[in-house]
Amino acid sequence: MLQLIRDGTAVTRADLARRTGLARSTVAQRVDALLAHKLVYEAGGSESTGGRPPTVLAFNHEAGVVLVADLGATHSRLAIADLASEPLAEVTQDLDIALGPEAVLDWVQDQFATLLRKIKRSVADVRGIGIGVPGPVAFGTGQPISPPIMPGWDGFSLPNWFATRYDVPVLVDNDVNLMALGEHWTNWRGIEHLLFVKVGTGIGSGIVAGGHIHRGAQGAAGDIGHIRLHQHEDVICRCGNIGCLEAVAGGRALAIRLTDAGIEASTSRDVADLVRAGNPTATQMVREAGRALGEVLAECVNFLNPSVIVIGGDLGQVHEQLLAGIREVTFRRSLPLATGELQTVASQLGDRAGVIGGAIMLIEHILSPAAIDAQIQQAGAAA
Ligand SMILES: [Zn+2]
Repeated sequence: MLQLIRDGTAVTRADLARRTGLARSTVAQRVDALLAHKLVYEAGGSESTGGRPPTVLAFNHEAGVVLVADLGATHSRLAIADLASEPLAEVTQDLDIALGPEAVLDWVQDQFATLLRKIKRSVADVRGIGIGVPGPVAFGTGQPISPPIMPGWDGFSLPNWFATRYDVPVLVDNDVNLMALGEHWTNWRGIEHLLFVKVGTGIGSGIVAGGHIHRGAQGAAGDIGHIRLHQHEDVICRCGNIGCLEAVAGGRALAIRLTDAGIEASTSRDVADLVRAGNPTATQMVREAGRALGEVLAECVNFLNPSVIVIGGDLGQVHEQLLAGIREVTFRRSLPLATGELQTVASQLGDRAGVIGGAIMLIEHILSPAAIDAQIQQAGAAA
């Protein structure tokens, strides 16, 4: 019922009874419970058809907040959002994920406390915590599994770490999955199949299939950064293999090649800044990176048949160059049936995609029918 009220499908008690097929007395009882928990409120009368107008119910998106952290390899963004995934306060910081879980999470915890004070909310208002990390995650337990660029994080339980500080659900996912979720929910909810590609320090993708994130059996789905490219046998990847996509076209690889060419760059953001400033060498390199990416995406398009490919990450922000290279190769190499309706676009949420996706992941979890029922029952048992 909360779902129907949230998306505006049914906003009066009579509508709810019609849509759910439940007895009006049952509907009234459940609406009372939602009102008591302040998850909905009475927003006044609806269009009158004569007689007393029925009361319109609205979702109370101020009924709590969620804490979200999008931890990147070198840069992090934290946010507090309301229950409509609207950020209320945000902070960004250069932070090396390789400092390890204790140092990084201590910082995250300090920032969450500061942000809560800033918007005058307390720990009691927090409904959940969502964390995105730049590596594979066992989604069920919230543990990073052998993440190549996160030394010290292998098997570390983030939910356990937060459990001593907050009594709320803690969900952890790969950062690219969160970006895919954020972009899909915000801008592409009407389509079922979307591929989000993050081109930052490394390269990864998040798959939305049938309207849901496809994580695979172990949470490793979409890890396209280590797919092998042809004709790049001379490039050794940090994973130990040769010719990996991210060793050829990732931001870190481009920064190293620019430095070798006498142009100062140490991160993917430096590369993006150089392209924006019109540096011809950097521009040429990003265009070539787009073609390399296009080679892999052409296979992904044949395999997954998405309706839209969204390019995000630091290099996604200089998308003209990157997209030109990607489109050139994808359309030449993919099946006509798969590319007929295919759109390749830049992320509209930019570097906020991760925190918005994190908020959405949490909100869908804590407002799911099962979670709401449990919450209401728990309160009933306590009373
Ligand atoms: Zn590799």
